[in-house]
Amino acid sequence: MDAPLVLTTRLDPNEIDKEAHNIDVGWSYPLEFYDATLEYKHPRDIEGVMDQVARRIGSALQYEGFGYTHDTSDIAEGPTESAYKTLETMMDKMNAQLELARKIRAVDTRDVVSRVITKHFLPDMIGNLKSFSSQSLRCTKCGAKYRRIPLIGRCYCGNKLTLTVHEKSVKKYLEISKEIGEKYDLDPYTQQRIAIVEESMNSLFESDKIKKCKLSDFM
Ligand SMILES: [Zn+2]
Repeated sequence: MDAPLVLTTRLDPNEIDKEAHNIDVGWSYPLEFYDATLEYKHPRDIEGVMDQVARRIGSALQYEGFGYTHDTSDIAEGPTESAYKTLETMMDKMNAQLELARKIRAVDTRDVVSRVITKHFLPDMIGNLKSFSSQSLRCTKCGAKYRRIPLIGRCYCGNKLTLTVHEKSVKKYLEISKEIGEKYDLDPYTQQRIAIVEESMNSLFESDKIKKCKLSDFM
């Protein structure tokens, strides 16, 4: 889903992302592999028996003879559009992932929730909260950027200025984090971290002097 930043015409397997060197390209898995799974061995411990791209670097085999275990009639077969695009809201995406986690016996759903929140949602929210208060402003008409709001309160071309980081994007993951955090009964530490982030957001976006009330608040 990311746009390419650099295009290379000549690929040297030694120079590509090291992550791709971990792909196993054997035609079958040896018995040692299955034995190791029963002992919960660390993948690194059985690297020696697996045919990985990393071991082929520098030889002619780095380009050819890649094995696979499941054949296909068309290499381009598969979903043409990722579920990340077809599912609209963040809530839909998260629920779809958790539904899948629930179906797979080997996956601990609560652990998935905990990881998504601590590794993805919380850092994103904390990062956006910081960039919101140190953001620059942009003119919608002439495109000029300002590190600080000019004293005249608008762009020098006369047009209004707009924010580059919006409240909506800062709060994007807050509701979903709170909801799944409660639903899956996450540990108090993580739940409290979410609560602290929420407090920080309220402190930034809501005025202490003007409190919005509904009629029902008085009854
Ligand atoms: Zn302008």
